[in-house]
Amino acid sequence: MDNKPVFVTQPHLPPLEEFIPYLQTIWDNKILTNGGPMHQELESALCKYLGVEYISLFNNGTIALLTALQAMRVTGEVITTPYSFVATAHSLLWNGIKPVFVDVDPDTLNLDPRKIEAAITPQTTAILPVHCYGNPCDVVAIQRIADNYNLRVIYDAAHAFNVKDGGGSVLRHGDLSVLSFHATKVFNTFEGGAIVSPDEKTKKLIDQLKNFGYVDEVTVVAPGINGKLSEINAAFGLLQLKYIEGAVSRRRAIDEHYRAQFDAIVGVRPVEMIEGVAGNYSYFPILVEDEYPLSRDELYQKLKDNNIFARRYFYPLISDFPMYRGMQSANPTNLPIASQVSQKVICLPIYPELSHEDQLRIISIIAAR
Ligand SMILES: *Cc1c(COP(=O)(O)O)cnc(C)c1O
Repeated sequence: MDNKPVFVTQPHLPPLEEFIPYLQTIWDNKILTNGGPMHQELESALCKYLGVEYISLFNNGTIALLTALQAMRVTGEVITTPYSFVATAHSLLWNGIKPVFVDVDPDTLNLDPRKIEAAITPQTTAILPVHCYGNPCDVVAIQRIADNYNLRVIYDAAHAFNVKDGGGSVLRHGDLSVLSFHATKVFNTFEGGAIVSPDEKTKKLIDQLKNFGYVDEVTVVAPGINGKLSEINAAFGLLQLKYIEGAVSRRRAIDEHYRAQFDAIVGVRPVEMIEGVAGNYSYFPILVEDEYPLSRDELYQKLKDNNIFARRYFYPLISDFPMYRGMQSANPTNLPIASQVSQKVICLPIYPELSHEDQLRIISIIAAR
């Protein structure tokens, strides 16, 4: 049997010769960054594709998160999830903000709105939830709490590129939504990110903050940062966008095949996607339950021994890393669901070029028990 390595994800790269004309244009323009023509074109194209009005491109999702918190003048304490990539909470520490971890919902693995209120203190100024694996948060319940306590809501939407609920893009919820276009994400610009704003004034503020706080040649109004996306990265995004529909439908087929097969395997439970949501199939998380004959780590190792490099997203929890674990809210007794799930989860390979044979191989290793 063919045993070449299979990774959890692999970026979709369009044929190289299709990228050359974009490079030629950049060479002709001699504009390499600072909001050049490619950057402007990608902002417009993404607004149209995602169905949002205002978007600001960034050099990565983490700088976009830092800037979103700055733009909303978030201080003090922020309620967030421990079940995410570490950049979510790091963006708070970099702003001198104290993260307060709240447990997740056992079905969606998103911040559990029923547990948010108990964590609010006079220092709380915002909520930073994550649409985990592209499953939308309970945006209505979260907004209700935010309105009651006068809190900002900034969504880490790094997993939610083009996810739509009944009313349209999930990126329209909250005060701001932050995207990542890292190489491992559904849509990538090698490195990159974005903030979705509700109005022009907010977009303008964010555009100033990502350019050192400059408003014109001689005026600096805030201690901004360098968050600009280069022309090469923006050009690659434009080319990617041409292939995104095909890439997502290939992901959907892989997702459906996994789900159909795992129905018959006791002890392996795929995380359900919320009904009525058009997802992006960015991840394929399964929970390895007690009924399965191997532990999660044993299955992870067995896959690895067969050259299948699945990932334990999200393990460890953010709240278990040394810079967080001393905090009161990081205590595992405060986070029973997140702690359990983090011991059970494995994300299986899913990406457009994953071959049918490789998928069958993955399924048969898991089914063999
Ligand atoms: C990828 C990711 C980020 C960070 O984005 P970068 O573009 O890699 O900086 C933040 N939050 C979540 C949930 C992510 O998955």
